Amino acid sequence: MIGSIAAQQPVQGFDAAAAMARYKKVALQVNTSAFSEKEKQAVRLLIGAAQIADSLFWKQAWGDKNELLRAMPAGPLRDFTLLNYGPWDRLNNDAPFIQGIGTKPEGARFYPPAFTKAEFDRVADSSKFSAYSILNRDAFGQTTVQPYSAAYTGELRLMTQQMRMAAGLLRPTDPLFSDYLELRANDLLRDNYDISDRFWLEMRDNKFDLIIGPIENYEDKFLGIKTAFEAYVMVRDNEWSQRLEKYIGLLPWLQENLPVAPAYKQEKVGNSGSQLAVFDALYYAGDCNAGSKTIAVNLPNDETIQKEIGTRRTQIKNVMRAKFDNMVQPISELLIDPKQRVNITFNAFFNNVMFHEVAHGLGVKNTIDGKRTVRESLGAKYSAIEECKADVLGLYMVTRLLERGELTEGTLADYYVTFVASVFRSVRFGASSAHGKANMITFNFLLNSGAVKRNKKGTYRVNINAMKKAINDLAGLLLKVQGDGSEARAAELLAKDGIIGTILAQDLARLESSGIPVDIYFEQGIHTLGIQ
Ligand SMILES: [Zn+2]
Repeated sequence: MIGSIAAQQPVQGFDAAAAMARYKKVALQVNTSAFSEKEKQAVRLLIGAAQIADSLFWKQAWGDKNELLRAMPAGPLRDFTLLNYGPWDRLNNDAPFIQGIGTKPEGARFYPPAFTKAEFDRVADSSKFSAYSILNRDAFGQTTVQPYSAAYTGELRLMTQQMRMAAGLLRPTDPLFSDYLELRANDLLRDNYDISDRFWLEMRDNKFDLIIGPIENYEDKFLGIKTAFEAYVMVRDNEWSQRLEKYIGLLPWLQENLPVAPAYKQEKVGNSGSQLAVFDALYYAGDCNAGSKTIAVNLPNDETIQKEIGTRRTQIKNVMRAKFDNMVQPISELLIDPKQRVNITFNAFFNNVMFHEVAHGLGVKNTIDGKRTVRESLGAKYSAIEECKADVLGLYMVTRLLERGELTEGTLADYYVTFVASVFRSVRFGASSAHGKANMITFNFLLNSGAVKRNKKGTYRVNINAMKKAINDLAGLLLKVQGDGSEARAAELLAKDGIIGTILAQDLARLESSGIPVDIYFEQGIHTLGIQ
């Protein structure tokens, strides 16, 4: 594989400029004018730490980054390689786009080349199962296991030094975050994230955040065990975090008023331990920056901690804004009725996503006969139905909060029309995920009930009053499916409506010839932030 790199030609038929043009470059910016000098200095250090996480992800995903890029002059092929963190197209099933490279190893660089399951089974060292170890083959063909802290010693030392320096600078103004940085640094050096994960979840009101380390296991498609390095440097959006608390406080009232019989809303709701937070990103690095960009993170992944304390879901507002401007907005210009395009707003888009998250807390977790959890009862159908419930109850929340005057910005039409436009965005490349299926159940229900109508020209318009009723009807239906734990009705709903219909598929196909970006990528760093 390495030997053929000197050529550095795209595979036949691959047009790097065209591939690159499908992504929109976005400057990752926030207003840094109010940052103190110490804060700016600290952010520079945190970005430095993140860049090391970036280089570790390169090692894990591909190997030697410099060797790959050396014979690649500036231009779209190099840009596309950087965007994908390697020579495989992430949004096209990892298809290789550089000649002589071949298919991507399923286990990326977490395992030796051409490693088999049988070989893995023969390894006696039980640390092979660790999320934080890599496997190598020595000169004698023996497989050895190495913890990340040993495999990446130099990088981790530098990374943690920068984190500790930032902690020192922020101690007077952000003491808890400083403590967290110290604990995280310790954990990075010992391959165990328990202490810093717990501290992070308990941490409140920190101005900055740094999510850093080996976190998600998607890069390991061989066994799904090994975690990839990534980092997010972020600053809190105070205004939004406060608004959120207010809405979470209204959950009990919303639960009481759900459009369903009392038995299906008897559980107490409130803060289940899981939190929601709104941040702006200053820097993305590694796994989360590869291919399509994450707009929300739900962490930690440690299931023990999840059960004991919960998780925190962080919405990344400036990145959501970039996706809205570059994707939702132009999609709506092709698929939403011209008269209703004025109702497509970022405010509604952002709120809908937030209310979706809050709405996961409504309804019941256990079937009304008290015998099982809803999750157990619905099995593999659970995720799609739960996501659909969150979509619909999110819209229900918006409706009630606007009526009650708790939500003051925007109109019902803004929220409804923007919801429909964001469905088009999320199912643009298919509806195979739980979210995609959920979106389609909602959309098809709205279409069948006349709340959404297709015009002759292939645009869609929302009937506000019909929508209100349809939301209540579908909410009632989903809450019953969950409360009864009826897997049969969940299956029926998914089979009938959890799919993209032929006409919508044709309408979505129009997006592909329109040049609407498939995703964004960042121009980012201390210069972009104006803190050099
Ligand atoms: Zn959800």
